[in-house]
Order: sequence, then structure tokens, then C-alpha cells
Amino acid sequence: MQILRKNIVSILVILAVAGVILTYFYKPEYFDFITQPSVRVQYERALKKSPAQLVRWNELTAIALIDSVESSDSYSEHIITSTSRPFTAGYVVDIAQGESLLAYITTDTIKPSWILEAYDLSGKLLQTATATDSSLILEVSNNKQRRIRLIAQSFLEQTDSTSFKIYKQPILGFPLAGKNNSAIKSFWGVARDGGRRNHEGNDIFADRGHPVVAAADGIISSVRNKGLGGKQIWLQDQLTASSHYYAHLDSQLVTSGQRVSRGDTIGLVGNTGNARTTPPHLHFGIYRAGGAVDPKPYIWQISIPENSAKLPLARFVIGSGSGSNLRIQPNASATLIKNIQNDTLTILGNVGDWYHLRIADDVAGFAHESVVQLIKD
Ligand SMILES: [Zn+2]
Repeated sequence: MQILRKNIVSILVILAVAGVILTYFYKPEYFDFITQPSVRVQYERALKKSPAQLVRWNELTAIALIDSVESSDSYSEHIITSTSRPFTAGYVVDIAQGESLLAYITTDTIKPSWILEAYDLSGKLLQTATATDSSLILEVSNNKQRRIRLIAQSFLEQTDSTSFKIYKQPILGFPLAGKNNSAIKSFWGVARDGGRRNHEGNDIFADRGHPVVAAADGIISSVRNKGLGGKQIWLQDQLTASSHYYAHLDSQLVTSGQRVSRGDTIGLVGNTGNARTTPPHLHFGIYRAGGAVDPKPYIWQISIPENSAKLPLARFVIGSGSGSNLRIQPNASATLIKNIQNDTLTILGNVGDWYHLRIADDVAGFAHESVVQLIKD
């Protein structure tokens, strides 16, 4: 009796496990609350019911993954998609150490219809966007210099136009209260002491007594008064694994070991140390394990771009004239991809008075509106 009951229990357990495995195989969406698949995975799963569409979708992804269009530090595009020409595009972006990259697509995220992802240049997925109430937001912030490719892709079978932005932001706060980029008057690498050394920081000018603030949360590791830096403060920033150096201060308002938050006043601008013959300024430096690094990308503020251009009603253009060129960025001095005289191209979007265009399922780039003619669908 005992053995029989044990066998029944074992059989029930085996059946339950088999049931779970079979359900996972045939209805994986029942397990989404555990596996948290990306929007791409969910969409591709849905497309398996129509193999031709899945093939087309994969082709469109592959196109975006080899696009060589480059985004500037702040980029704003109106993009358009339709059932006949679903939007797909890749954008190569350089991120400096000290910068984070943000990208977003304005979209109705209750019913997802766009995909926004970051890949490395070998095609490895680094990150997917997070959906908020009104947009897809992607942030890449790992505090190292790298080149990545963002891809944006519209679901098939939708007609939509929306706004797409890519821009960079400094990881740290600005170290002088109420000041901005224009107060930085001397940059990294310029010669010092008649060329015997290079400037290992940024000089940021303000009146004597102007508040110097912590650029990040951290711990004050040293407060001292000596040498070239004069009255100086060192702040240990764990988030970026670096030490921030604030020099030439008039006064120091913190003590060693003190914990500070980003934006806290830690000292006042002065001209102590070897700055005593120059106007008051803050020398701001950043030191990592390998030595000093350029602080500029860590603090350089970049405005969020606007694009006031309207998208045309037409979806196609034809290159007109011998100066009809496709370029890697929306400006006349950007690298030439190819001449597009007499070529027909699809409009993917626009950036000011430049069109983002693609030749069939091939190369994408930018052409100025003056060198193409709109053609009716
Ligand atoms: Zn300096």
C-alpha cells in the first residue's frame, strides 16, 4: 500500500513536470512573467505564425545592423514607417569615457510597435530600451570609450510617424554652482611650464568665493594645502571609480572622511598654489587607476536637440543633379557614401533640411533636400 501510494505520487510529479515543460514549449508566453522576454523576442514569437513576415522582419533587422550612418552628440529625427516600407535603421555612435548615451522614441507603449536597441559593432546586443508611458528610452552608461550601433525598427503592418532622439549627457554634475561649459577656458592637454608638462584637467573660471560643488556623491579623501594645487580637495567617487581633484581653492568647507552628495558646496573658488598670478578659477581633474583622464566629457553639458522640420507626405525621392550625394551625417562636410543622381530612395526620416534615405534594402545615408526631388508614391 505504502509503495503504491509512493508510485502514484511519483507519477503525478512526473506528469506535472512534463505538463509544465510542454506548456513552456507550446505556450511560452504563459511564462513571460518569469522570463521577462524583450519586446523583440515577444514580437518574433508572434510572427512565427506567418513565416514570410518573420523572414522579412529578420531581413530588416539585418539591414539596420550594417548601417553606417553616424549620429552627432545630439541628434533629432522625425521618422516614418508604413506597411510597404517598414522603418529600420542603424546609427553608429561614439561614446567617450565620462558620457552616457540616451536615445528615445516617442511611442504608444501600451501597445508596443517600435524596437530600440544598442549593439556593439560585432552585432552583440548590449541593451534594449525600457518602455515608459510615452516613449522607449535607452541609456548606455558604462564609463568607457566605445563605439556602438543603435538600431530602431518599426513593427511590420503599421503606419506611423514619430520623433527619435539620440543625445549624450555628462555622467557628473558641473563642479561650479550655476555655471556651464562657457566657464571652461582651458582644456586637457595644453602645454604648461613652457611645454615641460601638459594640463591634466580643465580650468573653470568664476569670481573669487564662487561655490565649488561636489560633481558626484562620494567621500572626501583628502583636504590639503600644498604645491601647485594650493588649497585642494580630493573626492572619491565610487560610481565612476575615480578621484576628483579640486584645486586653487580660496577656502575648503569639508573635512577628510566626510560623505558628500552631488551638488553640495565643498569649497570656494580662489587662486592659491601656482594660480596666484592668474584670475581665480577651479582646476578640476579626474584620476583613475591608470592616471589622469580628460574631465571634459564627464562635465560637458549637451542640450537636448529639437527638430522643427516637417516630414513630407511623399515616401520617395530621386537624386537630381551631379551634386546629389548621400552622406554619413546630415551635413555637407560629412563623409560621402555615394552619388545618388537618378537613384530612387525611400525616405526614412528627416533632420532639419536633410533627408535620411535608403536605396531599396541597401545603404542608408543623408542627402540635403536641395539635391533630391520628392516623388509621389
Ligand atoms: Zn588647471
